[in-house]
Amino acid sequence: MSGIIGYIGNKRVVPVLIEGLHRLQYRGYDSAGLAVIKEGKLEVRRATGKLRNLEEVIRQHPLDGSYGIGHTRWATHGAPTVENAHPLSDCHGAVVVVHNGIIENYEDLKRELAAEGHVFATATDTEVIAHLAEKYLAASSENGSRPAALEDAVRATVHRLKGAFALAVISTKDSNKIVAARQGPPVVIGLGKEEYFIASDVPAIVYHTRDIFFLADGNIAVLTPEGVRLTDFKGFPVNRRVQHVTWDPILAEKGGFRHFMLKEIYEQPRAVRDTMLGRIFPETGQVLLDEMEISEDDFRSFHEIKLVAAGTSRHAALAGKVLIEKLARVPVEVDYASEFRYRDPIVDPRTLTIVVTQSGETADTLAGQREAEAKGSRTLAICNVHGSMAPREAHGAIYTHAGPEIAVGSTKTFSAQMTALYMFACYLGQLRGQLPRAGAQKLIADLTQLPKQLEAVLQRDDEFEDLARHFYRSADFLFLGRGVHFPIALEGALKMKKVSYIHAEGHPAGEMKHGPSALIQDGLPVVAIATCDWDSDDSKVRYERTISNIEEAKARGATIIALVTEGDHEVKSMAHHVIELPHTNEYLSAVLEVVPLQLLAYHVGVLRGCDVDEPRNLAKSVTVE
Ligand code: GLU
Repeated sequence: MSGIIGYIGNKRVVPVLIEGLHRLQYRGYDSAGLAVIKEGKLEVRRATGKLRNLEEVIRQHPLDGSYGIGHTRWATHGAPTVENAHPLSDCHGAVVVVHNGIIENYEDLKRELAAEGHVFATATDTEVIAHLAEKYLAASSENGSRPAALEDAVRATVHRLKGAFALAVISTKDSNKIVAARQGPPVVIGLGKEEYFIASDVPAIVYHTRDIFFLADGNIAVLTPEGVRLTDFKGFPVNRRVQHVTWDPILAEKGGFRHFMLKEIYEQPRAVRDTMLGRIFPETGQVLLDEMEISEDDFRSFHEIKLVAAGTSRHAALAGKVLIEKLARVPVEVDYASEFRYRDPIVDPRTLTIVVTQSGETADTLAGQREAEAKGSRTLAICNVHGSMAPREAHGAIYTHAGPEIAVGSTKTFSAQMTALYMFACYLGQLRGQLPRAGAQKLIADLTQLPKQLEAVLQRDDEFEDLARHFYRSADFLFLGRGVHFPIALEGALKMKKVSYIHAEGHPAGEMKHGPSALIQDGLPVVAIATCDWDSDDSKVRYERTISNIEEAKARGATIIALVTEGDHEVKSMAHHVIELPHTNEYLSAVLEVVPLQLLAYHVGVLRGCDVDEPRNLAKSVTVE
């Protein structure tokens, strides 16, 4: 899931490419590289690791050119070495390519090309693209009456490729153009004044232009100093719809915070507010879902719902299951996207499949969505990126308006997803006659209070930092919760391991005695979610049971860090450390609970000297399987 960038125009190309790569590093940082062409001469610089290493190489060996391409890599095929770093060229140095995705038939192609005399220099799947394009370019220049065109060579090449790719290609044999192609991973094209951009994501180019469009799957773009031409893989011209980016690019910067993760945690009140904006009507308790091709009758008639997601989004989905089942009384199943698609899932036209994905490009989730659609299911995407694949292919979308998320560990998109699922459960509950108007009014009124309550929790960050100081040397953490709080326990554990590399597990509080209790020994920090909606009898029952589980853990030597609700006495008197949260209903309490857990993980990660924004071995949107 690497990041690609390309620029052609009047500016100095190297700073434009480097700046773009900085904003794409969330897509991977195994290596970085760029290639420029000046007066027909190709220059390439590459380095392993983060971008600063490439910048150092460029300082020592400067380069310049009028157009070029760049790449920040998350390796799938071939170790993260300099040799395997993109841009990659053919053996004659005629064609050079950057690639995001996986070429599934690269071994067959490599064999075929090697037999024809091509010599390979890397262990990547990508290299075959450069060799193929060079081969077709050479062939057409030998027998053609007109000069060989790079786009024709790329077109012939993509017909040979199986798998997923976003490509940008330049050549010394057909200069002054960048050719881009897409089959799967995202490609955005930026239209400036006599300058044109290609990138994997909008923040990489939005400082230069706000007029953009996404290259459609199966399309090829040719960028020249005169403009952008588009065709499909067959060569027929296609149209584009240019969008004007309205969000503030400053949002994609750190804005004074030490890390993106911290900034994004602090953006949660806004992310939640923006996600509900214009969609809720507190007077009637109604929810409006635009961008929906699924009719109200369909929503009434579904027999079951499948929620398909990965990572943090799956935790939001698990909480969504509790909400939807409770408020709309429809059976809901949650699945790992990577499992769902290979299980021949039981899905039919009476099933609604909801995919939850920050990027809308997560390969496993998209594959799950396509599988469900192929079986006749209606699909709905909860997604943070406008115009991305999942919402485009779905029958309906609920966009989370969290803004671009840069830190690899999701925070604000999680609370925005929870908000979207909450609204959806209210919507469905009313449509299916399960949620009376007064109940819906109360739920919506509670939701309007959530941003303010989130702000109140964030103001207590000092307490969470103190806690982190207490525990950052721990080798393990356990997180416990019941009901809708169990997914929050899972999310707390995932955040902790992701950004601090501490072993952490989340369990349903009632499961401890069936196994995990064996892990408890003196001083093990156990984070117990023991909040309570004092107005709900169900909630009080869960609360009482959780208290018993805390007692059990404490008796075995655990150090208890309890999340409680204002007005609590019982848990406060037994826990070693207490985090007190504002009172709200049980479901929204889950959104409040995740904030201290995110901040705890963040501070522990920082104290341990970890790279909290870009944890090792990971990358943001996972566009490979
Ligand atoms: N498959 C390519 C490589 O390993 C690109 C990786 C990707 O974008 O996912 O270099």
